[in-house]
Amino acid sequence: MEFLADERSTYYQETHGRGMDAAAKRQVRMAWTHQLIPSIDAWVSRKHGQVNFYLTQLLSGHGCFRSYLHRFGHADSAECSWCGHYVEEDAEHAIFSCAWFAAQRQRLEEALGGAVVKQSLVPCMLLSPENWEATSCFAATIMRELRAVEHQTRVQLV
Ligand SMILES: [Zn+2]
Repeated sequence: MEFLADERSTYYQETHGRGMDAAAKRQVRMAWTHQLIPSIDAWVSRKHGQVNFYLTQLLSGHGCFRSYLHRFGHADSAECSWCGHYVEEDAEHAIFSCAWFAAQRQRLEEALGGAVVKQSLVPCMLLSPENWEATSCFAATIMRELRAVEHQTRVQLV
């Protein structure tokens, strides 16, 4: 019986504890990256495009997004500091809907010649070096701004 209880508690930890948590988080992250990069072949065989620090953050969803910071206790909430109540700030929000980046998003849309939507952003980047560069600049702007806010908030907390 004791053995069974042990088994069960190990099972519980694996499915509900930290182990599962990490796996679940990995899945969420993979799902996000997969939504952005539906065709890995096209991504891998591209002839242009360096993936820098900022693009990595945007594509992985790991960066100064408040939902990400909050998960690790580095922000007091997951809410977008611009949009406020009940709007979670993650990579998707920052790229596609946050009002804070409306002007930058519009510039990017002008450069890409179309709306910035989840399904077409990366395919669009893959079309030309110019598209890639425009998106990379957009990513850098967003991530620098979010980083600055994160830094400010941290200084205030201390
Ligand atoms: Zn927002």
